[in-house]
Amino acid sequence: MKKILEMSKKVDSVEVVKSYLSDKTYYDALIIQSEILGSSREFLVERGFVEMLPVIISTITDPLNHDVLDAQIDYYGYKYYVTKSMILQKQVSVLVHDKIFSFSPNLRLEKEEKYDSGRHLIDFVQLDIEIKNKKREEIMDLMEDLIIYVIRNVLEKYSDIIEKYHPSLKIPSKPFKKISVKKAKELYGDEYEKLLSEQSDQPLWLIDFPILEREFYDKQDPKNSDILLDFDLIYPEGFGEGISGGEREHEYEQIVKRIKLKGNGLESYEDYLKIAKEGYLEQSAGCGIGIERFTRFILGLDHVEKTRLFGKAPGKFTI
Ligand code: ASP
Ligand code: MG
Repeated sequence: MKKILEMSKKVDSVEVVKSYLSDKTYYDALIIQSEILGSSREFLVERGFVEMLPVIISTITDPLNHDVLDAQIDYYGYKYYVTKSMILQKQVSVLVHDKIFSFSPNLRLEKEEKYDSGRHLIDFVQLDIEIKNKKREEIMDLMEDLIIYVIRNVLEKYSDIIEKYHPSLKIPSKPFKKISVKKAKELYGDEYEKLLSEQSDQPLWLIDFPILEREFYDKQDPKNSDILLDFDLIYPEGFGEGISGGEREHEYEQIVKRIKLKGNGLESYEDYLKIAKEGYLEQSAGCGIGIERFTRFILGLDHVEKTRLFGKAPGKFTI
């Protein structure tokens, strides 16, 4: 059902510019975000990764595990999806170079209710990483090192800014705690993610999501078919989820089974399934870390919309 946004949700463009000039947060956030981008890139290149350019439109994209409004482009009678995440392209890219990353713009037309989470933009960037023939533990270990490297650099170079916005920020210690979703639900009930985040002062990993709670491409655990070999990173102090990732399904039959299980419809994945059927896909693992959420956490801000210029928050219509 189409719903028209209320007129009050249209943000005046001059007011937008005025807020950029009067609220110093935008200025400081740009500096910190620039450091996050630079430090992450430096870290990954040092570890032997190759940067690839992002895919903006494609015949295939991430189905996502939650409902968003659809974004498609008609091109000479064919249909392009606007990228919701580059996951399916990452699986193909590691056939060319086995350690890749990309700063990938994702369009997810979230429902307006998502505004209050403080963590959603409908147009955001994630640092996407994928490695061939790796297990999820190695990805989690890599991301712990990346987060520590970035936060250390930010604190060394911009302690004055951090002191102003998020004085309690500290360099996390390795290894981050891991807790299964099952265990977290037993301990905290349905609000487990929120409560875990609020009650923690260190980032932590949620692992082993139940099979129907995540997308078809996260690998089913061969030892326990109810759960997936995947993970989310939860920032402390109530800042919530910041990374999703896992090992991937790469065998054709299994992919088809998983798509059907999710009720996703095979038609939307025709090009991807052809590649899988020919046996090209290989085992891989990877993840995506949201750049605006990482910036929000480091600065301790109430909403990700303050972390970039021209940010599009759910339910708002703006320049
Ligand atoms: N699926 C993740 C996402 O939310 C990324 C990943 O698994 O690599 O975009
Ligand atoms: Mg996620």
